Amino acid sequence: MESPIYNVALLSVIDRELDDLSEEYGDLPERIKKIKSRLDDAKIRLKESENILAENKKFASSAKNKLTSLKTQEEKLSKQQFLVRNNKEFDAITREIENIRDEYSKLSTELRSTGVREENLIAKIEEQKKEVTDIKTELEDIETEYEQISNDQNEDVVNLRKKRKDTQKKISKEFMKDYNRVREHTKDAAVRVRRNSCSGCFSAVPPQKIVEIRNNLDQLFFCENCGRILYPEDIDIDSTTF
Ligand SMILES: [Zn+2]
Repeated sequence: MESPIYNVALLSVIDRELDDLSEEYGDLPERIKKIKSRLDDAKIRLKESENILAENKKFASSAKNKLTSLKTQEEKLSKQQFLVRNNKEFDAITREIENIRDEYSKLSTELRSTGVREENLIAKIEEQKKEVTDIKTELEDIETEYEQISNDQNEDVVNLRKKRKDTQKKISKEFMKDYNRVREHTKDAAVRVRRNSCSGCFSAVPPQKIVEIRNNLDQLFFCENCGRILYPEDIDIDSTTF
């Protein structure tokens, strides 16, 4: 049966292998994250422009209706003007017609500037759509690159993860706590004693401690210099076997 310290050592080797594999991705994950956030921003800007355009169109369509109805009102009033009985009524209708014409002209001016705004917006939206498409292409390219690595590694990673799970099951909670604590600051959390030294930081391990390490395979010993877990020299794990 494997000793408790053997399993801790094995776990450490497996974790280093997994670290190496994830290092093959380099800065791809970080770059993917940045592109995705740029894509989100570009999409938001596009949506905003599209909303403004929709508002513009809504305004234009209601303004057109309003203009038609003002025209009808004006025509109706002009006809009424012929039927008035006195000057007072004539003047009142004249004022009403003037008001309507004012409103008509104001609204026409607004509608024209809305038209210009709409043209600008449409051009802007085209640009923004292109930007979104370009970023999407960029993202696809880099994701393909990522997938390639992932496909190449897939079998190894699945294998290692399974092996890691099996190994972890054999390690006590207490040991795992220590192991995880060390691994927070040193990736190779458990290292072999080699030539009477810690193979993590190369500082010498006292002879008495080496004897203890060798004789107590159900205990954890730590390097006094770097804090790594130490395992005996005769435990030599060959990572190429898994
Ligand atoms: Zn050390």
